[in-house]
Amino acid sequence: MRKPFIPQLVYFEPTALDYPLGKELKDKFENMGIEIRTTTSHNQIRNLPGDNDFQKYRIAKSTLVVGVRKTLKFDTSKPSAEYAIPFATGCMGHCHYCYLQTTMGSKPYIRTYVNVEEILEQADKYMAERAPEITRFEASCTSDIVGIDHLTHTLKRAIEHFGQTEYGHLRFVTKFHHVDHLLDAKHNGKTRFRFSVNADYVIKHFEPGTSPLASRIEAAGKVARAGYPLGFIVAPIYLHEGWQEGYHHMFERLDAELPQDVRDDITFEFIQHRFTRPAKKVIEKNYPMTKLELDEAKRRVKWGKYGINKFIYQKDEEEEMKEQLYRSMEKFFPKAKIEYFT
Ligand code: SF4
Repeated sequence: MRKPFIPQLVYFEPTALDYPLGKELKDKFENMGIEIRTTTSHNQIRNLPGDNDFQKYRIAKSTLVVGVRKTLKFDTSKPSAEYAIPFATGCMGHCHYCYLQTTMGSKPYIRTYVNVEEILEQADKYMAERAPEITRFEASCTSDIVGIDHLTHTLKRAIEHFGQTEYGHLRFVTKFHHVDHLLDAKHNGKTRFRFSVNADYVIKHFEPGTSPLASRIEAAGKVARAGYPLGFIVAPIYLHEGWQEGYHHMFERLDAELPQDVRDDITFEFIQHRFTRPAKKVIEKNYPMTKLELDEAKRRVKWGKYGINKFIYQKDEEEEMKEQLYRSMEKFFPKAKIEYFT
């Protein structure tokens, strides 16, 4: 059973202590006996422990920086939401394929922002602009927010905030099962709680540092029983020996856990494995022993944003994947909604 994340080292930006959450976190980490340092800005963090890049990378991924979010302009977050809501960046997980490796570059530490009320006020402004249309906010674009929320309770605050709004929906996805503190949040059905799920092979070989599938599924059951709208992201869908049985078995296990009465409102998102050339380089550096297949010759090219092409599966493989996964899904969850396959 994976334990909840505890940082090895915590940095505070001085302005974070102007906010109640900043002070609370400082007390908490002091009481836990964790090493605390101050930094004028996360950009100034240069002397992380570790003898080489490999060690520094690992230590950075268990380092937490408590700061203030200065940019309150939210990025867009298609296709799953209108906006990305920035509560945290970085993640303690070590998924070999994770896109954060490329986007966070040399700063893979985890950052949490304590000006939560300002971030929520900004969300309210975006909602007001679009009302009476619903505005959806995605909270896990740049981190696995559930993975650190047992420390900060930021997500819980946000869930209750969106629960009070008329035109706002919150959504996020996680590979962690530490959800107990979120079960009594007054969500009012405005938050869709999604879990990232996969065949055992993929979790075992490519997702170290995250919760096992059995724990994620058990957590999904708890979340469903707490009345949250539920969803699953099957990603990355990865072809491996026995993949058909692997993914089918995953659906069987979901079927065994989830109550019947929540099944009319479950969503599924499907994302096939893809990589870019820059990502491949970083993966090979950070996880040199990975078994992840990154052979460009076996893939087809999909034109990507900013001219960076993605390597995805061949058309016939993609079709087979889609057919097989849809068939398994429809067998156990005939009323579930497929949001997209990409
Ligand atoms: Fe990346 Fe998600 Fe894995 Fe964290 S849990 S390393 S965000 S893929």
